[in-house]
Amino acid sequence: MLSKNEIIRWLKEKDAQRLEALWLQADRIREQYVGNTVYFRGIIEISNYCARYCKYCGINAGNKTLKRYRLSMDEILTVAQTIERLDYGTVVLQAGEDPALSGEWITELIKRIKNESDLAVTLSLGERTPEELEAWRLAGADRYLLKFETADLRLFNEIHPLQNNGPWKNRLEILHFLKQIGYETGSGIMIGLPGQTYDELAEAILLFQELDLDMIGNGPFIPHPDTPLGKEYERMKNSDQQAPNDALTTCKVNALTRMVCPTVNIPSTTALATIDRQQGRENGLLRGANVIMPDFTPLPYRQWYEIYPGRLQAYKPPEEQHALLLKMLHKIGRTMGRGKGVSLNYLKKR
Ligand code: SAM
Repeated sequence: MLSKNEIIRWLKEKDAQRLEALWLQADRIREQYVGNTVYFRGIIEISNYCARYCKYCGINAGNKTLKRYRLSMDEILTVAQTIERLDYGTVVLQAGEDPALSGEWITELIKRIKNESDLAVTLSLGERTPEELEAWRLAGADRYLLKFETADLRLFNEIHPLQNNGPWKNRLEILHFLKQIGYETGSGIMIGLPGQTYDELAEAILLFQELDLDMIGNGPFIPHPDTPLGKEYERMKNSDQQAPNDALTTCKVNALTRMVCPTVNIPSTTALATIDRQQGRENGLLRGANVIMPDFTPLPYRQWYEIYPGRLQAYKPPEEQHALLLKMLHKIGRTMGRGKGVSLNYLKKR
């Protein structure tokens, strides 16, 4: 078991040869526990309306320059059909915290996807009420993703201006609730947020273990010029306590996450692939990850889900994107998983 000091030492390690040992170990553990298949999750960003003012996020309510959209139920169901036709076992529905996506409407959407397909449904709709989370689970939703973003409560509160608009004390409380009512539960962090230290990254990795999560998605913080943190980033990035928001640190966090949580599903995130366009997605898979989440949001909406600028493959049609991903998997000796790809961590608790 890794201690906090060992984790910090790895996070600060600069020697490429020594880091090879970390990549190798994470890759072996990944192979031993979750095998060589890579599960594909088709993500649909169903609305970019958001009531929150998260200081890092390009779709936060304060960004008045962004064009807003919300998909209709029929548009979403049509995309879900494409996802199933390509043999993906899971659809992920993600959105800003959009009050117009009512609890009832999402319930109806889940029921229709479940009736019309064999897809697992993952929701990523933010901090919704216990009643809604329960109703969606009952309607058939399988998984819920809610990142705690940073293990430092002070930093969390600083970047999520309080709105007193919900029943929850904090996101950890929501994660416990999601587990309790039977969701496969996912969380994760951003890496390199202004003010985030190496010590705090290590705390987050240990917190993943303590929370006994089923999925853990980590991505670099990518500054968005139209957000408060996008502006602050320039000032913070030179401090030596500041954790970098680069691809290397993201891969280290994922590799260490795999070592402390061997049975979880870990995506090689689009944010990682965005900051390292050549190798990001592939390196993620070679350093602990076993899942990818290709974007299926239809054009022209996709460009407006601008949580950060320059998202990778923002305009590729699904079939083209899929062919490229299969080619990349083939190159690294992995295969596409069939079926839902339920987390081993979840299965072992049943
Ligand atoms: N509203 C839901 C929520 O907050 O969980 C889901 C949508 S939110 C846009 C999805 C994720 O985008 C967040 O958990 C955050 O990690 C990521 N994100 C937002 N802005 C980002 C940025 N500037 N750089 C990297 N990731 C970002």
